[in-house]
Amino acid sequence: MPDRGPARPAAVLFDMDGTLLDSEKIWDVALHELARELGGTLSRAAREAMVGSSMGRSVALLHEDLGVEADPARSADFLSTRTTELFRTDLEWRPGARELLADVHAAGVPAALVTSTHRALTEIALDTLGRGFFTATVCGDEVARPKPAGDPYLRAAELLGVGVTGCVAIEDSPLGVTSAEAAGCVVLAVPSEVPIAPAPGRAVRDSLVGLSVADLAALPPA
Ligand SMILES: [Mg+2]
Repeated sequence: MPDRGPARPAAVLFDMDGTLLDSEKIWDVALHELARELGGTLSRAAREAMVGSSMGRSVALLHEDLGVEADPARSADFLSTRTTELFRTDLEWRPGARELLADVHAAGVPAALVTSTHRALTEIALDTLGRGFFTATVCGDEVARPKPAGDPYLRAAELLGVGVTGCVAIEDSPLGVTSAEAAGCVVLAVPSEVPIAPAPGRAVRDSLVGLSVADLAALPPA
């Protein structure tokens, strides 16, 4: 994408799992372990439907997929414990994410983290991401309606004190793209686990490698 000069986004709103961090792989491990624990095998379709989801929705989808009547709180605890362990030891950046985050910061453009993951686990991820890069962070347990509703992105813009339509949201999942578009953001989709088709007001890229804040400024408005 060409550099069109000094125009910049009002803010850049980053999804976390699968966008900045390769954490969907960690969720894969934890979800498949939980399925085994409950005596079943998680289907690919159900796993794909969970990408970008809140914990509550993922647990409900997993129980439904396995056809088991299990305690949702217990399953959520299992996932929390296992993902917490793995977030401490196995977190890796997605390609180009670290460089783009640094470029946004260097340009003085405010950034927010907008994630479906709950606060406690996000705090562990922020040890890897670097808290100083984000002016605001919005977690899945801090909004009335999580993604795919627009609430998390609307909340982030509100916390930053910027108009949401001037913000670029970067997302890896169809669910997250739906959320960002519902809020009115310009969307850059960088699919990780599930394909995403281009659409008006939505750019799709293979990765964040080589992207700069100028590229984000040049995206067409929503
Ligand atoms: Mg994601």
